Amino acid sequence: MSWHLSSVAMLAKALEAKAVSSAELASHFLARIQAGGRWNAFLDVNPDLTMEQAASADRIRAAGKAGKLTGIPLAHKDVFVTRGWKSTAASKMLLGYQSPFDAAVVERLGMPSEHNPGGAGMVCLGKANMDEFAMGSSNENSAFGPVLNPWNPACVAGGSSGGSAAAVAAGLAPIATGTDTGGSIRQPAALCGLTGIKPSYGRVSRYGMIAYASSLDQAGPIGKTAEDCALLLSAMSHHDPRDSTSLADSGEDYGRYLNAVWDTGAAAKPLAGLRVGLPIEFFSEGLADKVAKSVREGANQLQALGATLVEVTLPKTKLSIPVYYVLAPAEASSNLSRFDGVRYGHRTNEYRDLSEMYKKSRTEGFGSEVKRRILIGSYVLSHGYYDAYYLQAQRIRRIIAADFQTAFGQCDLILGPVTPDVAWKFGEKSNDPLQMYLADIYTLSTNLAGLPAMSVPCGFSQGLPIGMQLIGNYFSEARLLQVAHQFQQATDWHLRQPSEVL
Ligand code: GLN
Repeated sequence: MSWHLSSVAMLAKALEAKAVSSAELASHFLARIQAGGRWNAFLDVNPDLTMEQAASADRIRAAGKAGKLTGIPLAHKDVFVTRGWKSTAASKMLLGYQSPFDAAVVERLGMPSEHNPGGAGMVCLGKANMDEFAMGSSNENSAFGPVLNPWNPACVAGGSSGGSAAAVAAGLAPIATGTDTGGSIRQPAALCGLTGIKPSYGRVSRYGMIAYASSLDQAGPIGKTAEDCALLLSAMSHHDPRDSTSLADSGEDYGRYLNAVWDTGAAAKPLAGLRVGLPIEFFSEGLADKVAKSVREGANQLQALGATLVEVTLPKTKLSIPVYYVLAPAEASSNLSRFDGVRYGHRTNEYRDLSEMYKKSRTEGFGSEVKRRILIGSYVLSHGYYDAYYLQAQRIRRIIAADFQTAFGQCDLILGPVTPDVAWKFGEKSNDPLQMYLADIYTLSTNLAGLPAMSVPCGFSQGLPIGMQLIGNYFSEARLLQVAHQFQQATDWHLRQPSEVL
């Protein structure tokens, strides 16, 4: 059976109708993971444990206690700590590390138990490759090798959640978790032809998510459709007292508007009354013509569904790159100080004293991009530079967030590209960090502002997918998913699959 071509919603129906069991689904995907090793999408699998979970899911169903997602397999980005699978964040620093507990996201989506009554009952297929500590835009920073793009193996899958995206695009998992600090859910989703959502900051607990930049990090799903993302996000998001920035009222059904009309008082078209803002700065120099064309066609499609298009401005868009690349490394330098050779992971073999032990362990354990960010972060936080860089960046961050609020005075959601171009070839940007950072121009500002945003397939160029980005105001995830779902009802970009997967 070609279960790997099905959406999560379709698999859920098949499980409910007893057309397939969780055990059958799990073995189907495990076999595909084994055969699909060339994509390098997975860092760790544990077939025995996967099959054990699938058997429990089948028992739950037989007992009549199944929920919507019971028995559906998924892959977790290796940034979430898991019991039973190694947790490395794709770093040599954590080579072989086994966590004694599950991250909140893993718990929420995993098997229900006495200690985890809210578990959705999904079956973990393994841990997805990523950029080391989620730092990167191409997955070339993984200590365990890059992820290949299923649409063209000569191209990057995007980053940092490249393994999650490639796993779904190559049919190795029906859906996967990711994290987005500056675009890492939306960008790999766009480059691999998938749908992904980064929720508002605080929607999903960061407990057990290996920290990169805590004020920006958010978890979310990468799947085939907006409907699947709504299902997963509804299960992932909840209030968690173990994360001090977890929102109090996050337990929503994010799929509740999927089939609703935007404005019940308006005309018959589903999106009548919706105002879509196109920021001029998102369609200016640096954007490839083919991407601009597909994204504009996407906007026209929303117009055909009843929406009105308006021009808006986000004047500080360009500054989001320097601001992000000051703040994220600053937070990273602090978060990564815990990897000192004492408490977790790698410790050097030979050392004369404590300070040499720290130095050698960190030198050996971290890759070059991680070191670059720790150096930048330590520099911008140091006495004498703090005011000039860190504090200044914090001020501009506020202005960027305020600009979004001005724009939302004129529109209900903002539409633009996710990336300046389609997936690039391996090595094309990896020797020039600045070129790599510039590729994040359209995604960074939403993390700086804490807003929800998603990536939706809207076209192809030379066989490579193009994504459009929908940005909403705080807590408007259900509305964003509604618009994306309506778009997907009217288009088939999200249904296309790479030729090798079919
Ligand atoms: N590409 C960005 C970076 O390198 C964003 C990464 C992310 O969202 N985790 O930091």
